[in-house]
Amino acid sequence: MSIFKRKQEVQPGSNGSALSELALNSINDGVVIVDRAGKVRFINPAAKRMVEYNSMLDPIGADYKDVIRLESKEGRELSEQENPLIRAVMNNEPLDAFRGSLIMGVTGKRIPVAISVIDVKDLAGNKIITFRNIAKELEEEGAQTEFISTASHEMRTPVASIEGYLSLALNPQTATIDERAHGYLEAAHAASKHLGKLFQDLLDVTKSDDGKVLPKFEPVEMVGLIQQMSNNYCAQFNQDNKVNYTFGATDGRLSASDLRIAQVVYASIDVNFMQEIMDNLLENALKYTPKGGSVWVNVRGDGDRVLINVTDTGIGISADDIQHIFQKFYRADNSDTREIGGTGLGLYLTKQRVEAMGGKIWVESGFGEGSTFYVSLPRISTEEYEKRMIVKKNQEQFAAMQQARNPQPQPQPAPATPQPTQPSPQPAQPQTTNQPVQVNQPINNGGQI
Ligand code: ADP
Repeated sequence: MSIFKRKQEVQPGSNGSALSELALNSINDGVVIVDRAGKVRFINPAAKRMVEYNSMLDPIGADYKDVIRLESKEGRELSEQENPLIRAVMNNEPLDAFRGSLIMGVTGKRIPVAISVIDVKDLAGNKIITFRNIAKELEEEGAQTEFISTASHEMRTPVASIEGYLSLALNPQTATIDERAHGYLEAAHAASKHLGKLFQDLLDVTKSDDGKVLPKFEPVEMVGLIQQMSNNYCAQFNQDNKVNYTFGATDGRLSASDLRIAQVVYASIDVNFMQEIMDNLLENALKYTPKGGSVWVNVRGDGDRVLINVTDTGIGISADDIQHIFQKFYRADNSDTREIGGTGLGLYLTKQRVEAMGGKIWVESGFGEGSTFYVSLPRISTEEYEKRMIVKKNQEQFAAMQQARNPQPQPQPAPATPQPTQPSPQPAQPQTTNQPVQVNQPINNGGQI
């Protein structure tokens, strides 16, 4: 190595910091450093441009909450409790590429950003906040989403028709088939059902990614609502004594406090979103718990949050898989899950729904040790609940009055599927059976399967 080179290596100091400064001044990503007291210690030019903090004032020394103001993806002003940036800076909660809208201080415009917080763990308690403009990314994703949404929509209809025809073929009242053909058709029916569910999930996910489905908040009492939603699964839980189900318990045992008068906990949520969340968590608990296991559901007030848990004694999730299960299409791949059908979209959608209502979802589990999924949502006080109920009732009365004044034409009922008007489909069958599938009443049965 030449002396010249060695000299360069031992004296990088000033060059190094000059280069760091050059990089921070030139990049398009915003970088802000805040100290333990929440005061801005450093802000690079890209961040200054994006936040548009009052042009007359220096953001250095200002409160970061006044400098970086966020709205949710859905355009909702985030309260301090729901704001993931504040939770990350104040409570050290992780924040990695959270998508939200940055409110520009002077013009009031919104920029879509992905925002992260890095805890540098130094003595001053500094945190580095980075954010990047994701407008172009969202545009490209929008085009992709549009394509997936159209394709899933178009494909759902023929798949529903195939599923309907297969049901007809499998129904002894409408078709006579031999035992081997029955087995093949059952496999085809299960596969078409899986495909139908995949398209439906894809459609839901693309609509949700697109921001087309916004929550409609209404005040509700959570314990009663979740109990009702969970109890709807009793028949499936009890079928063939599959699993023992208990409502109102966290760890399987109903404690003295569980047995006292049930707690009343209020929240402002979208009931349809909540139904989807519970459907996904309860269907998973049922799917991933072998026969003879147990499932418990509980709801309780936890300070200013409502905490729901769905616990099962099923196959559990390994530490490696836990960090990915809320991602799109992720399915844990092991000998247990391979046997169980799924699309890997349910928990992704569930997380989207929870976050759209200002909540959080997480799981505690270990492989072979069962799982507990937690959903935490902002809670409202009894007074707040009563106030919102009055507003809701007034809105309903107003809507009823409008409806009475201008009655809308009644929608016609949609025709039931399948509607086989053509000769019954003859899917290509492997020629392994002597007796062909015989469909007795293939034409126009009015969709009765
Ligand atoms: P899927 O359609 O595959 O069930 P989800 O998005 O609902 O998709 O779940 C993602 C993955 O998380 C599943 O494939 C499974 O590996 C794991 N998982 C979800 N819920 C449970 C559970 N209650 N017990 C064990 N594993 C679970």
